[in-house]
Amino acid sequence: MNKLGFGFLRLPRTDPDDVTSIDMARACELVDAYLAAGGRYFDSAYTYLGGASEKTLGEALAKRHPRESFEIATKIPSYDLKDHQQCWEIFEEQRRRCCVEYFDTYMLHWLNDKNYIDCENFDGFGFLREVKAKGFAKRIGFSYHAGPELLDRILTEHPETECVLLQINYLDWESPTLRARECSEVVKKHGKQLLVMEPVRGGALAELPPKALAKLEEAGLDQEQSIASWAIRFVESIPYVDTVLSGMGSVEQIKDNVRDKEPLTEHEWNTLLEVAELLRSEIAVPCTACRYCEPHCPMNISIPEHLALMNQLARAPGDDWKLRPEYNRLNETRGKPSECIACGQCQEHCPQKIAIPDWMKKVAAGLEQ
Ligand code: SF4
Ligand code: SF4
Repeated sequence: MNKLGFGFLRLPRTDPDDVTSIDMARACELVDAYLAAGGRYFDSAYTYLGGASEKTLGEALAKRHPRESFEIATKIPSYDLKDHQQCWEIFEEQRRRCCVEYFDTYMLHWLNDKNYIDCENFDGFGFLREVKAKGFAKRIGFSYHAGPELLDRILTEHPETECVLLQINYLDWESPTLRARECSEVVKKHGKQLLVMEPVRGGALAELPPKALAKLEEAGLDQEQSIASWAIRFVESIPYVDTVLSGMGSVEQIKDNVRDKEPLTEHEWNTLLEVAELLRSEIAVPCTACRYCEPHCPMNISIPEHLALMNQLARAPGDDWKLRPEYNRLNETRGKPSECIACGQCQEHCPQKIAIPDWMKKVAAGLEQ
């Protein structure tokens, strides 16, 4: 049942405050361990880690392994494009960064209501078709962050689409805002290949609060299985899922994820959906730490780290004194949440639609002295 792809969004760094400071020696070690375990699918995007993700694929993967031993999927930012000339410039830069002649999968990044209209205006799908016709991509598609109605419309208007990348995990499966199950059913209805991102929801499903953990133990959580592996099994158990992307930061994590796993039983599946209900009532902010917001913040605030602190504070409101040192450390070299000017730039780029300026006020109120 192994459908695991390597998501290149969260890579080891030499400087925790600089997303581009990739620890190349460790990245090479991870790439080698994943290939040795039988993996071959790597997923990146033009904007991931300020461009460092694609460059790392070039250095750690393409320059060190035969082209036929791996597949690369990457994406062009649908939200920043004007015309085909600009698309080709970005595409050529991506090929240079990744050190490859062609991509196995090439996608428009992050279609939603607004980006789809922008994309139609510069004929983004026409560009994808050209890339494929020239032999520079074996498969074309898009990543998607909106509701099932628009997804149905896009797939009807663009039958040339071969694959769709969706955020699916047991927390979002029945979420009234993300509607992951409904979106996945639209992809299935159109007969497209379904790729999954965020199966562990940016790490949020790798550690669980005691009540949720107790439920998993009741369902037979084996001590040898990690909590994250249950989240991976959930999405791998969906029969029409083609590939599941996971960002992996250690060789142990790779071995844990790549190992063949049994599909979930109906009882286990339902237990995870019960755990999701519990988590929804406990998680204050549904941030996945994707960092799409960060480059747009004029005050240079470490938004995902502050939202993670907010979640910890929501679970244990008396722990502000424990969290304050980390809050202060984050603010030593970056902007403070109290300096947020509520410009809303971050929120426009958040796939989870989080009201970030409001949360910045709450973090500052809870942790700043
Ligand atoms: S609203 Fe605040 S956190 Fe968001 S981009 Fe503007 S200054 Fe940064
Ligand atoms: S706030 Fe939104 S855009 Fe920023 S890291 Fe979290 S989920 Fe991603």
